[in-house]
Amino acid sequence: MEKNIENIKAEALAELQDALDPDGVKSISVRYLGRKGIITRYLRNISNLPAAERPFAGKRANEVKNELDAAFKDALGKLASDARGTDERIDVSLPGRTPPRGFLHPLTQITRDICDIFTRMGFNIAEGPEVESDYYNFEALNIPKNHPARDMQDTFYVSDAIVLRTQTSPMQVRTMEKQKPPVRIISPGKVYRCDSDLTHTPMFSQVEGLLVDENVSFGDLKGTLTAFVHQMFDAKTALRFRPSFFPFTEPSAEVDILCVMCRGKGCRVCSQTGWLEVLGSGMVHPAVFENVGYDTRRYSGFAFGMGVERIAMLKYGIDDLRKFFDNDFRFLRQF
Ligand SMILES: [Zn+2]
Repeated sequence: MEKNIENIKAEALAELQDALDPDGVKSISVRYLGRKGIITRYLRNISNLPAAERPFAGKRANEVKNELDAAFKDALGKLASDARGTDERIDVSLPGRTPPRGFLHPLTQITRDICDIFTRMGFNIAEGPEVESDYYNFEALNIPKNHPARDMQDTFYVSDAIVLRTQTSPMQVRTMEKQKPPVRIISPGKVYRCDSDLTHTPMFSQVEGLLVDENVSFGDLKGTLTAFVHQMFDAKTALRFRPSFFPFTEPSAEVDILCVMCRGKGCRVCSQTGWLEVLGSGMVHPAVFENVGYDTRRYSGFAFGMGVERIAMLKYGIDDLRKFFDNDFRFLRQF
């Protein structure tokens, strides 16, 4: 009988060797260790042995029972980890999943492009408040109360003396109040006017610039803005300066570029004129210099301003200004 238990153990382990999956192992386990299993029956029969043999046979049978139990558990654990190995094996040769990266809004990109061009020419960036006093937004820029030029800009009034700035020009006055010439600044930022249609939104973005020094001429203005247009659009872009009126500059000029869509032939975008207006500019009006205490006999300067949305529309061929503010991801992700 002693030999018998060793044979049972050997048979059980041999069967276990051939088991292919956890169910196979479990059925072998039940056949040997279950309530009616071979080992269980063997243990029950020990009472039939001669009294002298019983203690040794019982001890050995219990040892075999525990050894087989451990072997079955071991086999189950190994099969489970093999299964995991097949399903979840890490393939180190696979390229990683790149997390989607954010990107800048097209208007932010264009604003940065504009600022980069001017900072390379020696301009500093000056930013200021969007809620502005009437004085900085109008009066200091030679637009007194009741002046007809105020009608050019439909203004959001916060109170009689406070407005949402209609232009970023207040920063020119604020800078000149604090600093003696030479001054070279550009001020990017949001501005507000109460009109809204295909080509106007109540909020839009501007970049304005100011340069003040001794002996600054209209030629400097033309050279600076020509350099800007050539870097912003293309080095061959033709441009023209057209007389205009702004209260804070004299003389004043609008800057047109040859239509980027039709190259001057005339199309819907340029209203068949062949030209597109991109900038307002002019020599700073002496009244503005007097407001900040600059000597008008010694200093002269020029100023300019542009709508960022307009530049972006021309550069990317976009026909509706409102697309920039719809936050439609299908539109924005193209940039
Ligand atoms: Zn055109």
